[in-house]
Amino acid sequence: MKFNEFGLDKSLLEGIEFIGFEKTTPVQEQAIPIILNGNDLIASAQTGTGKTAAFLLPIIHKIITSKQDEHIKALIVVPTRELAIQIDQQMEGFSYFTSVSSIAVYGGTDGTSFSREKQALTEGADVVICTPGRMISHLNLGYVKVSELDFLILDEADRMLDMGFYEDIVKIITFLPLQRQTLLFAATMPKEIRTLAQRVLKNPREVNIALSKPVEKVLQVAYVVYNAQKKPLVKYLLRHEKLKSVIIFCSTKISTKELSLELKKSGLAIEAIHSDLNQETREKVLISFKNRELNVLVATDILSRGIDIENIDLIINYDVPNDGEDYIHRIGRTARAEAEGIAITFINEKEQNRFLEIEELLGKPVTKARLPEQFGDSPPYNPRKFKPKKRGYRKH
Ligand code: AMP
Repeated sequence: MKFNEFGLDKSLLEGIEFIGFEKTTPVQEQAIPIILNGNDLIASAQTGTGKTAAFLLPIIHKIITSKQDEHIKALIVVPTRELAIQIDQQMEGFSYFTSVSSIAVYGGTDGTSFSREKQALTEGADVVICTPGRMISHLNLGYVKVSELDFLILDEADRMLDMGFYEDIVKIITFLPLQRQTLLFAATMPKEIRTLAQRVLKNPREVNIALSKPVEKVLQVAYVVYNAQKKPLVKYLLRHEKLKSVIIFCSTKISTKELSLELKKSGLAIEAIHSDLNQETREKVLISFKNRELNVLVATDILSRGIDIENIDLIINYDVPNDGEDYIHRIGRTARAEAEGIAITFINEKEQNRFLEIEELLGKPVTKARLPEQFGDSPPYNPRKFKPKKRGYRKH
């Protein structure tokens, strides 16, 4: 479907053309008319489906056609600072030829940015994209003009609940008018999301976009190893493949730090990204990775959802992720858009049962590659028995 079939404002269509979008993605085709029609929405769509434009475009259109004043019209609540910045960048692109303004409000920056945010919130940016904690700090101070708010968007709501933001979200909502349009986007729909939806949405319409990308497009391989073999194996893979863009996921901040230090020692251009780094450093690292100045990033799951970096050649799961959804999100970083990608997972003996659970969620075993000879023996893959889940991960 073409974007001009929705009846969107001309200045917004110019922005869409400028950005280079030609046809809608399925989530856009389904969600845009629902939002334009004024309905609440609950959408299951992961990053990479085009969900950001699915909510930004109709909202920008509605703001252009509503009365202009100093009140905030839309609040987009997201789990991480990186995602807030990324959505704000898309927002700037789409609204380039319109008069709609936006600001990203997120924690972890210095006092100057707090004052800048305060000013924008006082003068009333049209669209505010925020992380929960920082927004509550501003709301508690009383100057945020949300009394006339028309739209609340909870993006990556499942991730926000995983990160313990349920109470923060509920608190933010206490500041907002009851009469508003609420949109909830989540990659997965666990019970908690349904509960939140019942609490904050009114007669929502539903859109479901299957999590189809990873299995179809990513070549998935696993190495069964002893823990001590992981570091030499990662070095070997990085040395032997000519790769421009690699993300190595670790499950903890500590292993992220340790591994990146170790790899730096062997002369690789590597940086780590985790929540202990300050905002400025995180942004700098991310930009140099996006620009390909930096080829390898060692990261915690902070990067596994929401962040859109194109053309990642290889994902290495240095540790087996905690659950299947995290696995899908991590490997979804590669094979963005139409590109192929590779995801390699290292499984030590303790992680075998956890990996089996992931395979059960995927509905099939992941190919186990043979370790290069110089690494010696590897342990047998011997988790408890494989029992594919009847429903497979698509409907999870
Ligand atoms: P998202 O799922 O919103 O994170 O979007 C994933 C990527 O797809 C982003 O790089 C978008 O710029 C891109 N994208 C979204 N919608 C379209 C579209 N209709 N045509 C081309 N690219 C798109």
